[in-house]
Formats: sequence, C-alpha cells, structure tokens
Amino acid sequence: MKIVMLGAPGAGKGTQAARIAEKYGIPHISTGDIFRYNLKNGTELGKKAKEYMDKGELVPDELTCEIVADRIFMDDCAKGYILDGFPRNIPQGRYLTDVLTKADQKIDFAIDVEVPDENIVKRMSGRRACPNCGATYHIVNIPPKKEGICDTCGTELIQRADDKAETVKKRLDVYHDATQPLIDYYKELGVLKTVDGTQPMNDVFEDICKILED
Ligand code: ADP
Ligand code: AMP
Repeated sequence: MKIVMLGAPGAGKGTQAARIAEKYGIPHISTGDIFRYNLKNGTELGKKAKEYMDKGELVPDELTCEIVADRIFMDDCAKGYILDGFPRNIPQGRYLTDVLTKADQKIDFAIDVEVPDENIVKRMSGRRACPNCGATYHIVNIPPKKEGICDTCGTELIQRADDKAETVKKRLDVYHDATQPLIDYYKELGVLKTVDGTQPMNDVFEDICKILED
C-alpha cells in the first residue's frame, strides 16, 4: 500500500496520514517533518531548508528528492508507506515514479484532500503542533484535551513559524503553481482518488479508508 497525499497546505494531509499510518501499520513519511526535525537539531540540511521554509517556498529538489528515495526503501517500508508533502511539484513526481519503476514498484493511491482556499487560512491560523512527536491539533476544530498540551506526549504545543498569514498566502500560491498540476499527473497514472476535506476529520478518514479497502 504505497500512498501519496495531495492537497493544499492545511488541507488535513498530515492529520489523515497519521491516522492511516496507525490503522494500517505503515510509516508516515512527511518531508515537512523531516526538515523541521533537521532544523531543530541544527543540521546542515536544516539550516539550508530554513531559508526556504521561512519564506513559504519549496526547498530545492536536490535537497528533497534523495532524502525520500533513501527513506522509502528502508525495511519498515516493505508493506507500504504514506507520503505526506512529497511530491510537491512535477519534477519530484517524475523522480518518484522513476525510482519506483527501477525497483519494479509504483504508487497505488494518490489521495487528493480537497479544501477551498477560503477555509485554509482559518485552518492554518488555528493549527498547533507538537514539537516533540509531531501531532497536530486545531484550537477550535481539533483541540487537545488540555489546552496547549499534546495529548500524546504532554509537550507544550507551538504555532509553526510558517503558519503566519503572509507565509500562508505565499504557500497557497506555491501550491497552485507547483503542486496542483500533480493532480492531473496522478489522474493520468490512473491512481488519483479525491475526498472532500471540508468534512469533519472522522468523515474524511472514513472516506479514505473506503478508498483503500475497495
Ligand atoms: P496539512 O498536513 O495538509 O498541512 P494538517 O493535517 O496539519 O494539514 O491540518 C491543518 C489544520 O487543520 C490543523 O490545525 C488540523 O488540526 C486541522 N484539520 C485537519 N483536518 C481537519 C478537518 N477535517 N476539519 C477541520 N479541521 C481540520
Ligand atoms: P509541510 O509541513 O508539508 O507544510 O511543509 C513545510 C515546508 O517544508 C514547505 O512550505 C516547504 O518549504 C518545505 N517542504 C516540505 N516538503 C517539501 C517538498 N516535497 N519539496 C520542497 N519543499 C518541501
């Protein structure tokens, strides 16, 4: 079960990917989380990625593609995986297809979580993330049990630096220009599935599970 999550920033890809990963016992691979982990740990990759992330731009493909190519062939990916935030443009999509083809593999499902731009800003301004385990909440829609504290690991939640309004606007522009063309790319490969991401979290999850189990 090799899955790619598509959708605008804030559409709910990470929220759903975490639940799918748990239910089906496959790893959740988020390039955004990988960059944030490197940033937190002060690695060279983290320092380079920060420049782009702060501006809401894409980190260059040279820094991104190889990380994914290494990760998806690790032992825990043998049963499948769920990619969240990658690919983010057509060259990354083609790169992924090429490395998989060479290994006689392919993406089975590309799930597009559809949410209109007008809902995105509210979602991103209310998003809170756990800097320790990566769990994601929303102050109104999906609040933690105790305000400001991660349900899973008890760490204090933070607002992501790139969730401020100006950066969100830039990230949405980047999404429409660079990422949205991947919807047609995966449609042509015959693996595109679409879900209505404006529904409550549990309903979106049910729709995705139906797709995966059909
Ligand atoms: P992405 O990974 O696509 O950037 P997230 O999964 O981080 O998006 O979700 C963005 C914000 O929207 C988070 O605050 C999350 O808690 C909230 N959210 C996710 N799914 C839903 C939903 N179905 N309805 C309302 N809010 C949601
Ligand atoms: P995300 O957590 O998916 O919202 O990603 C946060 C930021 O990390 C993005 O705005 C980009 O700067 C960077 N990023 C994440 N994934 C990619 C990718 N596949 N290609 C380029 N940049 C990425």
